[in-house]
Amino acid sequence: MKNAFIYTDAYFDFDYGPTHPLKIIRLKLTYELIRGYGLLKLPSVQFTPAMKANEEDLARFHSLEYLDALKQSSDGRLHGGSISYGLGPGDNPVFPGLFDWSLWVTGATLQAADFVSEGRGDAAFNIAGGLHHAHEAWASGFCYVNDPVIGILRLLDQGKRVIYLDLDAHHGDGVQKAFYHTDRVMTISLHESGATLFPGSGFEHEIGEGAGEGYSVNVPFPPYTDDEMYTWAFEEVVPPLIHGFMPDVVVTQLGVDTFYSDPLTNLHLTIRGYEKILRRIKTLCKRWVALGGGGYDVSNVARAWTLAWAIMNGIELEEELPESYLAKAAKVGLRERRLREGLKPPISPHRGEMEGEVKRVVTYIKETIFPKVI
Ligand SMILES: [Zn+2]
Repeated sequence: MKNAFIYTDAYFDFDYGPTHPLKIIRLKLTYELIRGYGLLKLPSVQFTPAMKANEEDLARFHSLEYLDALKQSSDGRLHGGSISYGLGPGDNPVFPGLFDWSLWVTGATLQAADFVSEGRGDAAFNIAGGLHHAHEAWASGFCYVNDPVIGILRLLDQGKRVIYLDLDAHHGDGVQKAFYHTDRVMTISLHESGATLFPGSGFEHEIGEGAGEGYSVNVPFPPYTDDEMYTWAFEEVVPPLIHGFMPDVVVTQLGVDTFYSDPLTNLHLTIRGYEKILRRIKTLCKRWVALGGGGYDVSNVARAWTLAWAIMNGIELEEELPESYLAKAAKVGLRERRLREGLKPPISPHRGEMEGEVKRVVTYIKETIFPKVI
């Protein structure tokens, strides 16, 4: 069976702006590192050029008024009313072509969903996707169009049961909200607590409503949570839910802003913890749609998503990064020469308290959610 890697250099026609933390160059660097390791020439890999979605695809979730506002803002200027859709200076700037950018990202996610859903392969990866904060008529957290929601809706249209698993440091609020009242999608988000990080939601007691009660699962972590605490909580919560729900497809958001060196967040994960989680996901998910997500230390993004793609394909990588990548990375000021190189987080003096908090959350989930859904 094949795995699809979906990508296009067309992403570089777009730019959030020189001071914005989301750098589209991270996608190019990831592609270059994956290519440098030879991971696009494997017999198991089908390289798939991304294709744009169409407007009707976006309208499956977003309001027409909002899509009109996005289109209007694609000239790179603010228009009257743009602010009321969350657009403007700050997190969600208007930049030339932002509507086209959204069509490319969503198109690639739909290609990934179709590839897996139609049984053309076991897994597909859209590194540009995972823009989990966008709401029906509201841009939020660097996200204009919610490609995970639109991809999941496509899977539901095809009769699939879906688990959405979100590893980003920020709560996957837009996706949770879209499926808060249904039991056909289970959303599981592991993230830094909303008490200390945007978007301020994702507490353990947000469990879904009506038919969806028990099908929204949140694992909030205190700041400075490390690999050991994170992987422990993952193991306690995620495998039993996947085994209990028995999804046809798992959609993962693989944000890497959980890492110690990420400038926007306060978790203390390393690439080694991330690797453990990805290896576990590989054993848990027979049909896997993988999306990108956050990650504001560009070097982490390229290395972690390359490692993720290698794991998806059952390949072990050399620790030395390929020369072809190093030359390109050096041009944007990146110095790391090894795959798993990185700063080691200090051990928090409050580790005991933090462990207690993580255990409390896990116990809450086991007592409140497990009896409803397993
Ligand atoms: Zn994030």
